[in-house]
Amino acid sequence: MILITAPHSYCSSKLLYRHCDRIAYEMATLLHDKIKPHAPVELVLAEDFRYNMDFNRPISEKSPFQQRINNIIKENKVVFCLDIHSFPKFKIDNNDVYILRHDYNSPLVDEFILYLQNKIKIKEYKGESQKETTDHIYVNYILDKMVDNKIPALLFEFYEYATKSRKEELVEIFASFWIDYFKKKK
Ligand SMILES: [Zn+2]
Repeated sequence: MILITAPHSYCSSKLLYRHCDRIAYEMATLLHDKIKPHAPVELVLAEDFRYNMDFNRPISEKSPFQQRINNIIKENKVVFCLDIHSFPKFKIDNNDVYILRHDYNSPLVDEFILYLQNKIKIKEYKGESQKETTDHIYVNYILDKMVDNKIPALLFEFYEYATKSRKEELVEIFASFWIDYFKKKK
């Protein structure tokens, strides 16, 4: 099974300032719906605003969001976790997808990154983030939980002002890898 998580996806159209990952809900849902007819997939979306509860931090440990993830992990063979986020402004270059990895021992993580590199411009933002907060690598609670459970995982940041066709293209590229993965396993 593929697990898709989106810890900062809870948004309100009434709030004008940026209070959530604006396209995380959309990207996670599109990805889930694309994979669903072809392969086992579960989607876990945020159930509250980030300023009330950050589901990517250990403080959310007892939340229903984390309990759902725990149950999915316990009851299924989760082969990969896609943790979906989004960002509002281009950084140094014009990459519209950034990745963050915590698991450096997973061949499946390597394989998925290699696949993506052949299709899109993709960049790891590890170095940059570690400059911002020295303990950054320890505070991505979902990635850390997956590492603890030996589940390959990657965090993705998608550009919030990407066009509709670009978003669809990215969803297609991402979903195809996992649909093929399960097809080959049969
Ligand atoms: Zn986020």
